Amino acid sequence: MDTEKVIVRDNDYVLHTYKRNPIVIERGHGMHAYGPEGQDYLDFTSGIGVNSLGYCDLDWADAVARQAHKLQHTSNLYYTAPCSKLAKRLCRRTGMNKVFFGNSGAEANEGAIKAARKYSFDRYGAGRDQIITLKNSFHGRTLATLTATGQDGFHQFFGPFNDGFLYAAAGDLGALTKLVDEHTCAIMLELIQGEGGVVPLDPAFVLGVRSLCDDRDLVLIVDEVQTGVGRTGTFLACEQYNLRPDIVTLAKGLGGGLPIGAVLLNDRVAGCMGPGTHGSTFGGNPVVCAGANVVLDRLSDSFLAGVRQHGEQLREGLEKLPHVTAVDGMGLMLGVQFEEGITAQAVLDACRERGLLVLTAKTRMRLLPPLIVTAHDIERALTILDEVLCSMAPAQR
Ligand SMILES: *Cc1c(COP(=O)(O)O)cnc(C)c1O
Repeated sequence: MDTEKVIVRDNDYVLHTYKRNPIVIERGHGMHAYGPEGQDYLDFTSGIGVNSLGYCDLDWADAVARQAHKLQHTSNLYYTAPCSKLAKRLCRRTGMNKVFFGNSGAEANEGAIKAARKYSFDRYGAGRDQIITLKNSFHGRTLATLTATGQDGFHQFFGPFNDGFLYAAAGDLGALTKLVDEHTCAIMLELIQGEGGVVPLDPAFVLGVRSLCDDRDLVLIVDEVQTGVGRTGTFLACEQYNLRPDIVTLAKGLGGGLPIGAVLLNDRVAGCMGPGTHGSTFGGNPVVCAGANVVLDRLSDSFLAGVRQHGEQLREGLEKLPHVTAVDGMGLMLGVQFEEGITAQAVLDACRERGLLVLTAKTRMRLLPPLIVTAHDIERALTILDEVLCSMAPAQR
């Protein structure tokens, strides 16, 4: 089926909640996505940080196919090996003690919110249920995670929203401390605000939040849905902040392209979530877990050193490009600010025309290439970006 037919049919029948790019992706291999008429795109998006091993990695596809032929699903009433294997490896890798599996980032964050409230309820009784999140954060599209998201634009149309969320400015420990009272049970944050424009938090602030949580017995939830699973050059971004959270959520890159979300909990919080407190029909699905286990196989220390090295190469190249005023982020999660008059959307469109796929986040261009990106891929992307930016003149002042 050709591009035009696919687009027309999609526009006719799929709910228009996305502003899609006018291209169809039919298949992919490694760093490249291909269209129906042979279009070839170098993909620096990973499907928004999902395809951590690129398109259709052979080991990953094999493991998924083999598991699909063996057992595609049972229910959470029974045990399966891929799920327990993945949980054990996630705990070993992160120092956390227990894992709950769901199917998405928002669902993982819902689980984290529930676990934090249950912990507080068990210790302190009802009424200590408020969660402080940060302004400019993003935690998902379900009603509770929309409410947790600290951006007014997300708090429209769909009310009533949940009670029990307060917002503090990122970086302002004093203001955050003032919001804590006898009703507070948790603080939830992203270490790099991804959808918010790739904005890293200040390490001193983050460690201040950790001690505040220790002092007041608050649950610290770190949303690593975007930053986790090697994206920033360490398995968790927490490692680079020397941070030990009480709960970490993962999703995007964990499944290597299949839907999965995970809530990682320490013993203190995990102990409060007994049988019947939470569940998911699809959570821990053996096919998805088999794929995720291959992602974990691949993320050795030397592989992660490569992520950091390629991240540096990309950052240095981006900083040298015309019209670039700032590059933020860590590892292979980078946000690029352009001079006034050059919009990230215009750069994205022009890159796509030249065969490079990039993302935006707020006013910035965002790059989340697959973790398998090579020095050569980065050079190619920088060349295309250079051509695009050279052809753009910022607005006259
Ligand atoms: C993408 C994202 C989510 C939501 O994940 P979904 O899988 O779309 O539900 C939550 N938190 C962060 C930090 C994200 O980047």
